[in-house]
Formats: sequence, structure tokens, C-alpha cells
Amino acid sequence: MHTDLVAALDIGGTKIAGALVDGGGGILLRAQRPTPAREDGDTVMGAVAEVLGELTGSPLWARARAVGIGSAGPVDASHGTVSPVNVPGWRDYPLVARVREVTGELPVELIGDGVAIAAAEHWQGAARGHDNALCMVVSTGVGGGLVLGGRVHPGPTGNAGHIGHISVDLDGDLCPCGSRGCVERIASGPNIARRALDLGWRPGPSGDTTAAAVAEAARAGDPPAVASFERAAQALAAGIAATATLVEIDIVVIGGGVAKAGDVLFVPLRRALRDYATLSFVQHLTVTPALMGTDAGLVGAAAATVHTVPDVAAARAAGWSGGVRHGIAAFPVDRAKPLDMG
Ligand SMILES: [Zn+2]
Repeated sequence: MHTDLVAALDIGGTKIAGALVDGGGGILLRAQRPTPAREDGDTVMGAVAEVLGELTGSPLWARARAVGIGSAGPVDASHGTVSPVNVPGWRDYPLVARVREVTGELPVELIGDGVAIAAAEHWQGAARGHDNALCMVVSTGVGGGLVLGGRVHPGPTGNAGHIGHISVDLDGDLCPCGSRGCVERIASGPNIARRALDLGWRPGPSGDTTAAAVAEAARAGDPPAVASFERAAQALAAGIAATATLVEIDIVVIGGGVAKAGDVLFVPLRRALRDYATLSFVQHLTVTPALMGTDAGLVGAAAATVHTVPDVAAARAAGWSGGVRHGIAAFPVDRAKPLDMG
């Protein structure tokens, strides 16, 4: 019987979610706070500590064997720090050390949120059984992670697969990351809504100006709404084609709020891919909606710790062929040294 649990944290610009996850990817306990993204770093950490407090306060905590963190990027898994674009109070923020102040001696593993999504989709979702996949989230931002050669590929610092900040428009709008014409600057939910408004879309009586409202208008044939989704689809297709051409993937999994638009997004995306993914080895790329839903970040963060937890590792041996590359970004506590409290 598998009894070990993993504590998972999914830290984004909108919410901070935590959970205790079992070796089958089941969530036994969850906690959540809004991210005070405009506040100073310590205030943001306070929200993380509250989430962790709900987990550590549970009788289930005694079974926790590791902590997996998936954070909005960039992260630096090699140093245990994070600098999320949408959380300005955190720059090179020592998140792993701070989490350890709460969780004590458990090993802590940090990966980017896109890598976590890829780990989750590869473990239990739409990329299951695929050795080479790009898994994406299109939401407030655009993120992604890669599965290459059957393994999740976090890269040396945990950021590989950062497709949202590939430039697809050389002279395009400035992106908060400092570059121009990034995929995210065109295809994220807020940017889809902004473009639709610029093109003349007007929200309904509710005043809802989210990408979901634009999707509804696009479904009804509203030309500016359709045009904004087509532009987003084009940007996504160009980024996906670049990725597929570079590393050879056979499936693209897309989740997140904007992906819920369904055909409004996927139909023009598949059409645009035919324009950009032209070489023989990328022509048969499959694009499919994600299956993991809003828990993907938590399940993926838990998956990242798999090699540190015996029972979870056993679960993996029993049926999970993927997993984050062994040994990357593990933070076992060195008892000989005091913890760095920064
Ligand atoms: Zn960017």
C-alpha cells in the first residue's frame, strides 16, 4: 500500500495553491490563497506560508516525504530562487530556503510551472505515452514544458519550454520580459481581450472584457473577436512550429483558460500550423486540449519530487514511464550546515 505523500505548491501570478498528493496523483488535501502579486516579496511569501500552514496543520502532514514547487517563471532551480515576471516583489527570491523554514527537513524540489504542467500531462494527461511532447498553458500568461526522449526536460535551471517568451513578431510590442513580440504578448488572455477591444469589439451588457467573453463573441461570429483569436492562434502556431522544428515533438497539449475557447482557438491554430510547420518531420504534429485541468500544476509539482519519495517512486515504477530527469534540482537538507535563512 502506498502511504507516502508529497506536498505540492503551485505558485502563479493569480493564486497560490497547495496540496498533499499521493503516489497515484490523487489530491488528499488542498489549500489556496490569492497571490498578492503587487505587494512586496515578504507579503507574497506570507500567502505561501498560510497555504503551507494549512497543509502542515493536517494530521496527513505526518505522511509527507517531500515538497514539490512549481512556480511561475523564470525560476532558478539550481539556486532555489524564483523571479516570476508577474510577481515583481520576487526577484532572485530564495523561495526554497523560505519554504524550508516552514517544512523543515523534507527535501524540496523546484521547477518552473510550465515544466510542472508537462510533468502532469505526461504522467496522467493528454501526453501520456508520448515520448516527445510540448505541453502548454494559455491563460493570463503563456507557459510550457517539454517531454523529450520519454522524460520531462526541465533544463539546467528548470525553465526549458518557456514558449511564451519566444518572439514571433520581430518589431512587435514590448513584453514585460523585456523582449518584443513574444507569443504571450499576443496570445495570452489579457492580450486577446486587448486586441479585440482595439479592433472594435464591444463587451456585452455585463461589461465582461475577459478572453472568455471574447471567445463567446467569436463563436457568434463577431469579426474583431474572431480576428483577435486568429492572431493569437497564429502566434501560438509560429511558436509551436519553431519548437517542433528545433527538437522534434509529435504532440502539443494546450490547457489553461484560453484553451477552453475550444474550436474558436483550435481551428485557426491547426490552420496556422499548416503555414508554419512545413518541414516533413513537423507536418503531422497533433494539437490537442489538455486533460489535467486546474490541478495540473499541483500534480506536476508533486511529480517533480518522485525520485525522492520511495512509495511514489514505486508508483512510478509500476506505471509511470516519465518523470523529471533524475537528480535535477533536488535540495536534500545538509544536516551539517545551518539552513540558509537569507
Ligand atoms: Zn516576453
